[in-house]
Amino acid sequence: MLSPEELSRYSRNILLDEVKRTGQEKLSKSIVTIVGAGGLGSPALLYLGAAGIGKIRVIDSDIVDTTNLQRQIIYKHSDIGKEKAIASAENVKLLNPFIQVEGIKARFSEENAKALLESSDLVLEGSDNFDTKFLVNDICVREKIPFITAGVLRFEGMIMGVRPGKDACFRCIYEEPPLPEHVPSCADAGVIGSMAGMIGTIQATESIQFLLSDSKREEGLFGKILQIDSKTMEFRKISTARRKDCIVCGNSY
Ligand SMILES: [Zn+2]
Repeated sequence: MLSPEELSRYSRNILLDEVKRTGQEKLSKSIVTIVGAGGLGSPALLYLGAAGIGKIRVIDSDIVDTTNLQRQIIYKHSDIGKEKAIASAENVKLLNPFIQVEGIKARFSEENAKALLESSDLVLEGSDNFDTKFLVNDICVREKIPFITAGVLRFEGMIMGVRPGKDACFRCIYEEPPLPEHVPSCADAGVIGSMAGMIGTIQATESIQFLLSDSKREEGLFGKILQIDSKTMEFRKISTARRKDCIVCGNSY
């Protein structure tokens, strides 16, 4: 049950016909896991925390450094040197003390993946490397956890939602992680900070609507890839198709 203080805090959500009090209660019972508390995870965590998602788990193994602050807006200058998982969880709790936030300092791996994602209603993937993106895909498909994966580089970004067994998975589209020398990272090639903010904010917006829909959302970014080129401000939404021979979600799945 939401307290009078929470009802007031979330009143602009509750005013919406698509939310109302029952929708807000649904959000307060939801569990979302965020893999990567960086440029995408920062805005996603802030907006999901502010929206009243009841339980948020944040996974990151890094330490806040000065080059992060151009885009990883959940951190303050005074957080430099702190563990991202812990600092991001503390900062979102300062924003909203009515939710539970658990910061886990860990590198997402084959060994810990299942335990880290357990009981999640939804996973947001916003890591900075393809190995993690593929691993989140493989574990979420296997455990049948819906997820929204996203990436950003330079002036561009992409977002893709996957309901395992229904939508194309990340491997249906990309098959194998590219060789690291073939893909520049934000550390090599740069990124516009607010571009990461846009993509992470779209992940949060899609998440809220997905959770409100009891996973039955038909519009939006599930079964789709949204590509954004901020140089031209072109937004392109492309439907995805499952591949029968996908090694993760194909026929043998
Ligand atoms: Zn697949």
